[in-house]
Amino acid sequence: MSKHNFEELLDKHHLKKTGPRLKVLSMMASKNTATSQPDLESVMSDIDRVTLYRILNAFEKKGIIHKVFDLNGTANYAMCHSNCEEHHHHDEHLHFNCTICKNVYCLDDLNLPPLKLPDGFKMEGFTLYANGTCPKCAGAIAK
Ligand SMILES: [Zn+2]
Ligand SMILES: [Zn+2]
Ligand SMILES: [Zn+2]
Repeated sequence: MSKHNFEELLDKHHLKKTGPRLKVLSMMASKNTATSQPDLESVMSDIDRVTLYRILNAFEKKGIIHKVFDLNGTANYAMCHSNCEEHHHHDEHLHFNCTICKNVYCLDDLNLPPLKLPDGFKMEGFTLYANGTCPKCAGAIAK
């Protein structure tokens, strides 16, 4: 995703195109793993934590990013896909926690069966976790 697309994304969600917001988006989109909150804080050290926290909250609410937890229980954030909407996330993909590098991967290409909830239950979000070793760490062990 280019800078132009990030601006479009913010426009679409009626969010002002501020430098910090664009920076958060470009950092997240550049990785194939989720980004931990401490990592975001260190990259975004020029803005205060409260501002960063507000940006993350707003993005999550708008359906731009979703929150997942790594094995340490630290919050990580990953980009959502285009079918997420305000107050309704569709991130029904597997979150793979690597026990070695502690990265969280969003695995979209698995075909998970749609969930059918009993009457009266209304789902607003769904997160599925798995843990094990990622290809990078498995390769490092084999050596
Ligand atoms: Zn989402
Ligand atoms: Zn790993
Ligand atoms: Zn995800």
